Amino acid sequence: MRIAVFSTYQYDRDFLTRHNTGHELEFFVLPLNEQTAQLTAGFDAVCIFVNDQVNAIVLNTLQQNGVRLIVLRCAGFNNVDLEAAKKLDIPVLRVPAYSPEAVAEHAMALILTLNRKTHKAYNRIREGNFSLERLMGFNLHGRKVAVIGTGNIGKALCHILKGFGCRIHAYDIYPDVELQANGVTYGSLEETLADADVVSLHCPLMESTKHLINKHTLELFKPGAMLINTSRGGLIDTIAVIDALKHGRLGYLGLDVYEQEGKLFFHDLSEDIIQDDLIMRLISFPNVLITSHQGFFTKEAMEQIATTTFNNIDAYAGQRELVNRV
Ligand code: NAD
Repeated sequence: MRIAVFSTYQYDRDFLTRHNTGHELEFFVLPLNEQTAQLTAGFDAVCIFVNDQVNAIVLNTLQQNGVRLIVLRCAGFNNVDLEAAKKLDIPVLRVPAYSPEAVAEHAMALILTLNRKTHKAYNRIREGNFSLERLMGFNLHGRKVAVIGTGNIGKALCHILKGFGCRIHAYDIYPDVELQANGVTYGSLEETLADADVVSLHCPLMESTKHLINKHTLELFKPGAMLINTSRGGLIDTIAVIDALKHGRLGYLGLDVYEQEGKLFFHDLSEDIIQDDLIMRLISFPNVLITSHQGFFTKEAMEQIATTTFNNIDAYAGQRELVNRV
């Protein structure tokens, strides 16, 4: 098949080229959106990532251009209008699980860095500052961690947290029996947020979970608690979180995703004037740590993404069952 691959960097091209099962790939640095949809003329399929925007307008253009298939190089599919795709009979395939440990380990890295301030120690020592002032953390052992969403990634994080001796209280619309047998307790969202020292988000972004963390739910947090989001930016109302940070209700914030990340993340903007005032305010807090959607970014996950993407394309081309259809 002839495939237009959007939002690619050198690492995407390397992994996809290495695992290609014989398709004609054309790589675009640009994201797929209303402005770039015309580039798909003459392609059979598009291969997209987290910040490509495939709404009904884009889908109509894809269909007019002869595109018959959309393959996502990620698990989340909140950026595709699935209803519109269904109406046009364009299947949307995804990579449902690629090394959930990669994202869970990154969530743990954010927790440990925010707590023990290793990023600050690194900079201090490089400047000959060996002081310990203001570097004090807390023991994770015995602390209560709220895991919101215990699917592949949330579950992997629970296993890591168990190793640290944390008490885990979870919220999921489908509690995991194996985790329960291992001592993870479940409750309502309100019960789970209350008393937690750390809250980590691992549920998908949907209409029902948009701004799950908002002015009201933040009021349930234990004062000074840590909030970690490696799932999707839209789970958090950024303005409410900034307010909670300003008033000390939130003690730490670790983000790998951000609601308006599309214009920022994955790009080198170091010489630009950044127009997004909310992210600039977030960056200014000493107790906020932001990474640029890199939770998935391990060798193992990139291999898995490339392999599953071509399995999905081959299943469609070979008219086999589309097991990863969303
Ligand atoms: P998953 O589908 O395995 O698990 C999601 C869990 O959330 C399920 O157990 C589901 O029952 C639960 N859930 C659904 N609706 C809920 C609700 N309203 N409230 C509470 N729980 C709810 O997904 P996953 O593989 O664990 O991925 C989780 C999210 O992580 C994805 O949706 C994606 O947005 C994000 N993600 C981020 C990165 C990254 O690089 N940062 C990489 C992969 C995935």
